[in-house]
Amino acid sequence: MRLNILLLFLLCCSSVQAQKRMLIPSGCAFDTDVKNLNPYTFDADPQAQQIVGEICAAIGIQQKFQLQSADVKNALACERDGQRFILYNTDFLKEFQADARSKWAAYGVLAHEIGHHVNFHNFNEENPARRKELELEADRFSGFVLRSLGATKDEAKTAVSNLVNKTETATHPPPTARNLAVVNGWNDQDVRLRNMGVTGVNNPSGNNGNTTIVRDSDGDGIPDGQDGCPDVPGETLLKGCPDADGDGITDDEDACPYKKGETRWKGCPDTDDDGIPDNKDKCPYLRGELIDEGCPPADNDNDGIPNKTDRCPDKSGKVRYRGCPDTDGDGVPDPDDKCPNEKGDPNFEGCQTDIKQSTAIPDKKENINPSAKDLHLLITDENGLPISGANIDLSDCYGDKGKTNRDGKFYFDELLRPIDCNVSIHQIGYIDATIALRDFGKQKVKISLVKDTREDFHGYVFDEYTKAPIQKVIVQVQLPDGILETSTDSAGFYSFNIDPSVTYLVSYYKNGYVDAVVRTFFSSKDNNRIANVNLEKNH
Ligand SMILES: [Zn+2]
Repeated sequence: MRLNILLLFLLCCSSVQAQKRMLIPSGCAFDTDVKNLNPYTFDADPQAQQIVGEICAAIGIQQKFQLQSADVKNALACERDGQRFILYNTDFLKEFQADARSKWAAYGVLAHEIGHHVNFHNFNEENPARRKELELEADRFSGFVLRSLGATKDEAKTAVSNLVNKTETATHPPPTARNLAVVNGWNDQDVRLRNMGVTGVNNPSGNNGNTTIVRDSDGDGIPDGQDGCPDVPGETLLKGCPDADGDGITDDEDACPYKKGETRWKGCPDTDDDGIPDNKDKCPYLRGELIDEGCPPADNDNDGIPNKTDRCPDKSGKVRYRGCPDTDGDGVPDPDDKCPNEKGDPNFEGCQTDIKQSTAIPDKKENINPSAKDLHLLITDENGLPISGANIDLSDCYGDKGKTNRDGKFYFDELLRPIDCNVSIHQIGYIDATIALRDFGKQKVKISLVKDTREDFHGYVFDEYTKAPIQKVIVQVQLPDGILETSTDSAGFYSFNIDPSVTYLVSYYKNGYVDAVVRTFFSSKDNNRIANVNLEKNH
């Protein structure tokens, strides 16, 4: 739309002006980045040419760049095919020329753009930090030029103050930083000129020194008497003191003047939110405690258990062994295991031994972790008497295996999230048990084992005619809850583990022989021997 109006205006009033489009891959506008612009450009008008001429004359350079009017936002500097350009917006310039008080803003903007050229800036700079430095260089140059042209500090700052967004952008620093650069450039040239005996500055607002001058040494618009920081330009809201990071805490009070922070941390941030501000935090991006200077607690062996609570701080271990390893996996952590590389008995300090002697040995496992919640499996017999040395298998729960201590207890860890799982218990003399537990890891569990009253019975199978032993005869016992099966060896021998003093049906099968079913009373007399069975061949 704007373009159309502009064209119309040009057609009826400025037919002498040449008009063409110009493709700008990258450049620098006064307050924004420029990428792939394609504006219409026109010959520069005399007013703009005059300002640029004054600037070049003040610093003694030849105008090596082309000045063009264009439909751009305010002004920009760019380079194309080795030719440097400054494009400016005519309306923008006229706006400032209309008002004597803002006249210097036009000078400031054009000086900034010229500053990019005289400093040979690379408009393709991709590094944001470097890019911002380039902007500050151009601003500093602008301050320098405006002092040369006789502007006051305040006047030198009008361009940034009036045109720049309050916030920082990806390419341009915040206005506070930019005006500081302008003032620094202004001060440099001021010292130089004063040393040469030039003291005066022009003042388009008409105050030429005859009336009372209110001193404002830092030129931030706040008179020295009311300025908390009279020598440094600053913010009106902060009594004239600067606040580079814009966190509302003035730089002189700000322990981190260039990082936005919080009042409680004296202007510093606490990035990891661990209550230790970044400037005092040795690990600002990792949560930690004050005692560790803000870093996570030291954990030399990396097992997740901090050194200070790790019983084996230099060997990676398990929580249930307070950070110690159990190399042989026998449930006795290495420091307590007299045989650390050989699976052993917890009751015998991790060494292999006869479990029947276990009652005489003090329980090691109990000493290991007295502070735990005393979570354990208690294994007893049917009369409630503890069974020591019972094999506990928690593979299904969390992978632990071991044996009960002399009190029949097997300690386990409290689980953050209790689980439903199976625990298997095996002990000679008792029937193996696999018990489904609900919410394992939360509370103590008591399990009673049923005494195994079974005994070994054995017998032989022979050929009825030859009296030779028959091998591979399938022998089955019909139990009330299933079938017990075995087969004979080359001696015709077979055996069963079965309750004594009970009568069962026992069947004998072999291809080529007639099946036999024998009612058998399993008597403990006669050494648990079952009467010989003779099979008859099929005809
Ligand atoms: Zn710029």
